[in-house]
Amino acid sequence: MLTTELSNGIAMPRLGFGVFQMADLNLCEEAVISALTCGYRLLDTASAYENEAAVGRAILRSGVARKEIFLTTKLWVQDYGYESTKAAFYRSLERLQTDYLDLYLIHQPYSDIHGSWRALEDLYREGVIKAIGVSNFSSAQLADLITFNRIAPMVNQVETHPFCQQWQAAEFMQQHHVAIEAWAPFAEGKNEIFTQPLLTKIAQRHQKTVAQVILRWLLQRNIVVIPKSVNPQRIAENFAVFDFSLTEQDMEAISTLDLGKPLIANHADPERIKFIGTRRFAT
Ligand code: NAP
Repeated sequence: MLTTELSNGIAMPRLGFGVFQMADLNLCEEAVISALTCGYRLLDTASAYENEAAVGRAILRSGVARKEIFLTTKLWVQDYGYESTKAAFYRSLERLQTDYLDLYLIHQPYSDIHGSWRALEDLYREGVIKAIGVSNFSSAQLADLITFNRIAPMVNQVETHPFCQQWQAAEFMQQHHVAIEAWAPFAEGKNEIFTQPLLTKIAQRHQKTVAQVILRWLLQRNIVVIPKSVNPQRIAENFAVFDFSLTEQDMEAISTLDLGKPLIANHADPERIKFIGTRRFAT
């Protein structure tokens, strides 16, 4: 498995499996087993997805050793602050039926992120989290966290796909040794991405699918990527991306699709911040 080395030396699989919008817990459990059977070794869930227990059951049922799996979950906003972060972390561990996490992320860049970050630093020092990071942080928000804390985030998980390519953000992260992880690599199917003409042409030339071309394009940019699917065929398709390479010309051509802004979630939008503040989950 291709990996990305995090700033603390931990190897993170470059290709993983996301489980957002899998509210049907049986479907989620089967999808995770399907992914692990295929060879995926990175799982990405969140307390806000309300499916950590299904992921935990799938890991146990899969027969794959826990230590072979790079397990990520995320802290939701309602649990921010030093003490409540620690409590939320242990509740996630319990639901996942594990005694450590490979990666714990602060899910949203608002509210008491510094209090939560100090809790993550302490849990990391205790060894119950192997790597700590954030999600949806702008370069300014990353700089704030890096400047006013002891440990810098090792990962920032952000919306990244052909219509939102994150070049500037990725450069800032690279300069600060923060690994970039792409969420919604397929833009959640928006903008007719799977039939986009340029991507279709490149896919046909390589005898691959558009989904595979997108994943390959991200992997070749050294971006960790976590596609989601509940369909066993597509789960396998999304993992079959290590037997071809995109050319420099393919990479450059895909860069022309960038719209330079998020398509799914604009984290700088005040209305979105207010909306996030209202979201409560059974965490
Ligand atoms: P995504 O992976 O971009 O797209 C998923 C959609 O694409 C689903 O409708 C899926 O349908 C379809 N699909 C998957 N593989 C396909 C293929 N080979 N051909 C055609 N269609 C395909 O969207 P996402 O789930 O939002 O993002 C991926 C992961 O990122 C999430 O699961 C989650 O772990 C993470 N994420 C994080 C954040 C954050 O704020 N940190 C936000 C969103 C997502 P089927 O399931 O029916 O195959």
